[in-house]
Amino acid sequence: MHQTIRPGRLALSLALPALLLAACGGSQPPAATTPLVPAKPTATDAAQFVEKVNTQLKAQYPENSAAGWVSETFINDDTQLLNAKANDRSLALQSQLIEESKRYNGLDLPPEISRPIQLLKISNPVPAPSDAAKRTELTQLATKLDGEYGAGKYCPPGKSGDDCLNLDQLEQIIDHSRDPQALAAAWAGWHSVGKPMKQDYARLAQLMDEGAVELGYKDAGELWRAGYDMTPEQFSSETERLWAQVQPLYEQLHCFVRDRLHQKYGDLVPENGLIPADLLGNMWAQDWSNVYDLVEPYKGAGSLDVDSALQQRRAALEKQKLAEFQAKFAKEHPGKKPTVQQLDTVEQQVDTQYAKDTAKIAEDFYTSIGFPALPGSFWDKSMLTRPRDRDVVCHASAWDMNQAGDVRVKMCIRPDEESLETIHHEMGHVYYYLHYNQQPELYQSGAHDGFHEAIGDTITLSITPQHLQKIGLVPASKGEVKDEQKALINAQMKRALAKIAFLPFGKLIDQWRWQVFAGEAKPEHYNAAWWTLREKYQGIAPPLARTEEDFDPGAKYHVPGNTPYTRYFLSFVIQFQFQKALCDAAGFTGPLYQCDIYNSKEAGKKFGDMLSMGASRPWPEAMKALTGQDKMDASAITEYFAPLMAYLKEQNQGKSCGWQPPADPLAGPQSAAVPAAAGKT
Ligand SMILES: [Zn+2]
Repeated sequence: MHQTIRPGRLALSLALPALLLAACGGSQPPAATTPLVPAKPTATDAAQFVEKVNTQLKAQYPENSAAGWVSETFINDDTQLLNAKANDRSLALQSQLIEESKRYNGLDLPPEISRPIQLLKISNPVPAPSDAAKRTELTQLATKLDGEYGAGKYCPPGKSGDDCLNLDQLEQIIDHSRDPQALAAAWAGWHSVGKPMKQDYARLAQLMDEGAVELGYKDAGELWRAGYDMTPEQFSSETERLWAQVQPLYEQLHCFVRDRLHQKYGDLVPENGLIPADLLGNMWAQDWSNVYDLVEPYKGAGSLDVDSALQQRRAALEKQKLAEFQAKFAKEHPGKKPTVQQLDTVEQQVDTQYAKDTAKIAEDFYTSIGFPALPGSFWDKSMLTRPRDRDVVCHASAWDMNQAGDVRVKMCIRPDEESLETIHHEMGHVYYYLHYNQQPELYQSGAHDGFHEAIGDTITLSITPQHLQKIGLVPASKGEVKDEQKALINAQMKRALAKIAFLPFGKLIDQWRWQVFAGEAKPEHYNAAWWTLREKYQGIAPPLARTEEDFDPGAKYHVPGNTPYTRYFLSFVIQFQFQKALCDAAGFTGPLYQCDIYNSKEAGKKFGDMLSMGASRPWPEAMKALTGQDKMDASAITEYFAPLMAYLKEQNQGKSCGWQPPADPLAGPQSAAVPAAAGKT
């Protein structure tokens, strides 16, 4: 879950250096019609400018997404080079357009002209300096870091080559092992991938800051906080307000899970302290679903073993494919045995078919609410399994290749519930693209970036235990569920391990980067600053000692991948708000946690209408169109999880919940000048 979205490569492509002119020898020269000392421009000039920007960006878009796509699905020196070049060309164009846009600064323009110009200025999260050499350096560093993450492997001592483990393999251990030594080794192994990134990352942050300053922001972090139709300061306090709404629920969940893990692992998990990060069933301790069996409130109440059901589906498919192969082989090669390679090919076919079937399940949900079927090219061109012959970035993402229907998903689907949810998530991006493709180029994005992340997740909220039975993914429960209340608490616990456990993590990733960009966390304390936030907000600790030799942020995709992360925190809040509105539209009157909008064309219509707006209006208007409210609000989450909250409070009675936050290494005389936005939000 929590996949990055790569809207084409628009992100990297929209670099906004100012002051380029002379420095950008490689970029397009100003058009002959642009006078050197421009006359005072008019609103009509500005309108024509917006039209030109839309046309030029749209024309360049497909090359960028194509270069990005191959660089992530075919990692090698050549594709890295091509991608870096494409990005560089794109940056040059963007630089020129931004520079031109400054002509209209201070002009009284109607919103339909001023808004796209503003979006142009802020939409690149990786702003490059105007200096051509620095811009090239920035794109090369960004591409290199992205590639290092994708190709990252851990080679246990004395091992090499095929004995080294990639992220998938290490995650298999972290997600499912209960052996503390194996867990710590896998955790440390993957986190070692970050080490070589540190210096490059520090340099990249420096270059991004230079780019942001040229655009009129204090640093890149302030630029990141500027895209929410409010000031960066207001945005910081909005995130703080939302966190305060959900924090009590997180603390109750942490308290309960810590107690259960203490029962399982003994003193490895202190009764009152921080939970070791490798024991929570996820490489980043951001989603605790995989420890559900250790914390299940009522053993066996309700039928929630979706992983087993999906593994059985794959096993059935495997059996069928193998039987078909064996029959054909016996006929064609009587008396012979198939080779290991031939059998392996069958396994690959099984994986491919299983992945496609899983994606079809997700598509079916969207079409059930009245959305169109995905185009044939989606099925031909998406990457849905890990190829065996090359390095790829398996981290799931959704792509709009040409803004004209060539949409794709890149992920490595496995037979588990997490993949099932992820494909629904990615398809939410895909359907957002398809809905707003009719908008002008600069409006082809989410109302804000949290909206983009929330669409598919909202759909997964309808995947209740009853829904899974309805579509035949898990066997129908035999007879009446004996104790509905117990089944409910179990189902809520399972969902909270994904949705509530994530919240502090979703918030802190960018807090760390805001500190980095503000120059407040310096390279010599990168790792300490990272762990201070993780300890403070998540209440977790590294399983083994860390030093500044380590660069643990680099082991999280979005850091080397330069994807802002607060969007995921916002998404986790507003998806419940969206769901509540959709359930109202569907005429559902029961408790929010039971709502399933499957087949509701009314809900689909309302959802689709909002998606079609893209970024054409300030996000509060899009929010209002769907929910009737113009603010983000976490009260739908607390409403949704009310039964669990009551259960947790009762169970935690008499325990000492919470944890002692560690001393802040950034605290001290120097941090007195730290802007509130960086440290405290
Ligand atoms: Zn996403």
